[in-house]
Amino acid sequence: MRAMLRAPQRVLQLTLAIVKPDAVAHPLVLDAVHETILSNRFLIVRSRDLVWNRQDSQQFYQEHAGRFFYQRLVEFMASGPMRAYILAHEEAIPFWRSLMGPTKVFRAQHTDPDTIRGAFGLTDTRNSVHGSDSAASARREIAVFFPDFCEQHWYQHEEPQLRGGLVCYDAAAAIHRVPGDGWTERG
Ligand code: ADP
Repeated sequence: MRAMLRAPQRVLQLTLAIVKPDAVAHPLVLDAVHETILSNRFLIVRSRDLVWNRQDSQQFYQEHAGRFFYQRLVEFMASGPMRAYILAHEEAIPFWRSLMGPTKVFRAQHTDPDTIRGAFGLTDTRNSVHGSDSAASARREIAVFFPDFCEQHWYQHEEPQLRGGLVCYDAAAAIHRVPGDGWTERG
């Protein structure tokens, strides 16, 4: 268990983060990404491990259909287990994308070696992580991965408590909760 913390003051933004199959395949990389999330003071609102089939993958990356890397991308994303997170932070969308680093790993390794993709990405396709690129994408992508999650309910009932009070990190479930029996600190 970690110690208590002061909660953030500004309204929390939500984003959808994915740890892609190349990173989940290596437990140490998955742990490192998880630690990056915690040490950068994101709140983990939901988390789930899953495997996509080709159809899921095609649907999610529909906007890239026809691009030269599309088939490779679709196959890769359906090639093994992934982890999806709903993350909350004052600036969740741009902040998570800045931690991810540039799309192209070979560029990231030179220009942003300390980012997740710079440190762990394998190729331009197998680039370890995904993050929503706008509020509209975040809403759509969260609904794809967490169909039972009600954003409106979360903003009405959980967000004010998480922002205004103390936050509990449930290490067993690896998510943050509104205070219960185990107090712990983000990061
Ligand atoms: P990002 O994931 O950084 O938002 P995009 O939405 O443009 O980037 O691309 C979606 C995914 O498609 C990338 O994360 C990567 O896995 C793959 N991809 C994008 N561009 C390329 C490329 N030039 N070569 C290979 N794979 C690519």
